[in-house]
Amino acid sequence: MTSILALLAVLPILGLVSGEASSDFPGPDYQWKHHSQQDLEQILEDTKRECPDITKTYSVGESVLGRKLWVIEISDKPGEHELGEPEFKYIGNMHGNEVVGREVLLLLISYLCKNYGTDPDITWLVDNTRIHIMPTMNPDGYAEALEEVKKTGDNKWSTGRANANGKDLNRDFPDLDTIYFGSRMGNFPRRHGKNNHISMALNLKQFQPETLAIISWLQEYPFSLSANLHGGDVVANYPFDASHNGKAEYEATPDDAIFKQVALAYARENPVMSDPNRASCDMGDDHFEDGVTNGADWYPLNGGMQDYNYLHTNCFEITVELSCKKFPTNPSDYAKFWKENKESLLAYIRQAHSGIKGVITDMDGNGIEDAIIKVSKKVGDTGEYIDHDITTAEGGDYWRLLVPGTYYVRVEKCGFEPAYKECVVPEGNESEEGSDCSFQLEENNEICSQKEVKMEEDLLNILSRYLQ
Ligand SMILES: [Zn+2]
Repeated sequence: MTSILALLAVLPILGLVSGEASSDFPGPDYQWKHHSQQDLEQILEDTKRECPDITKTYSVGESVLGRKLWVIEISDKPGEHELGEPEFKYIGNMHGNEVVGREVLLLLISYLCKNYGTDPDITWLVDNTRIHIMPTMNPDGYAEALEEVKKTGDNKWSTGRANANGKDLNRDFPDLDTIYFGSRMGNFPRRHGKNNHISMALNLKQFQPETLAIISWLQEYPFSLSANLHGGDVVANYPFDASHNGKAEYEATPDDAIFKQVALAYARENPVMSDPNRASCDMGDDHFEDGVTNGADWYPLNGGMQDYNYLHTNCFEITVELSCKKFPTNPSDYAKFWKENKESLLAYIRQAHSGIKGVITDMDGNGIEDAIIKVSKKVGDTGEYIDHDITTAEGGDYWRLLVPGTYYVRVEKCGFEPAYKECVVPEGNESEEGSDCSFQLEENNEICSQKEVKMEEDLLNILSRYLQ
């Protein structure tokens, strides 16, 4: 008797009885409207009240006009990095008049909150991923675009695209592309000889406050996967955004295979994006196979956010265009956009679990920060080096997104003997939990310089002073 009652009590938790919430969402009472900054803050507050155990809000800085750049974190231990758990982010509305991303992210926030504990997939995702969502990166641009829509009933192609200083934020990031391609072509020696965490001397006054807020945010969390949501077309665009000669042509990163996989994971679940017969948005000749494109192949740009993520951090970011119209003016159309993007948004977060992950420790089990993870894909009897290394986070944990295959993994850290191992990402593991590939390193007597770690710390210190 007791056991049957106990079982009945457990069933809804496992999601075996429920499932209603998923299909009804957001429900007949949901008010479809354009959500202002105030509405956005209200939704974050309401979500925190409804799901206090899995949410935390924080602001990473302010726009030119002093609007806060809000982030909501959704995780089973909000405010905490759990060893081994990947950190993921979504950023919406970087161009203030591209608003579909902003609205679908607000819906995603409520959706994750409402279905946690009842839907087993959502529960797994939230328990095993630290998800950060920034619905708007450009609240000033949004306010300007919304104002125009209210006054004239429409939004022109570019009103509100830039921030309040008239700067396009997706051209405002440090141009690491030029350094990277210059090094690759032998124009000058690669700084520090590195193929990751490339840095350059920055004059911080040159960058917009929204850009600096993101740069500083990236220093603070060990993100491994991200998407930046835009509008004006319907396609998932992956790095590089810049090309080595400035021409529109395919510019592959060393991680082209995994970038294609994650972009396809988004596009595949969106029936409009993946439709091979879809008419192009501008009636031009843009044709995107399977709903994805290499950024530079479409049109090259320098100073974009996704290339900065890839070249300066461990985070792999893509840019997703969600709708032909940048600012669809009829709020009821957003039900359609939510329906088109819901599964894509969830499938893409799951990609944070593809590839390998692990913890690098010393012989006493202490995590080793900033160890370098080098990976070669096994092809026949040899290994093809993927010329982009990943580094470990504070606790020694790392995430290396990879397509299925066998890999030779080498770990290096000054003061320790390098170590090697073969690790396998099984077929069909595209979005399962990353294969474990942990190492224990033996100390040696090498003398190490602290210079590079200090440079990162300096940048963080300078930024925090600047953002105050
Ligand atoms: Zn855009």
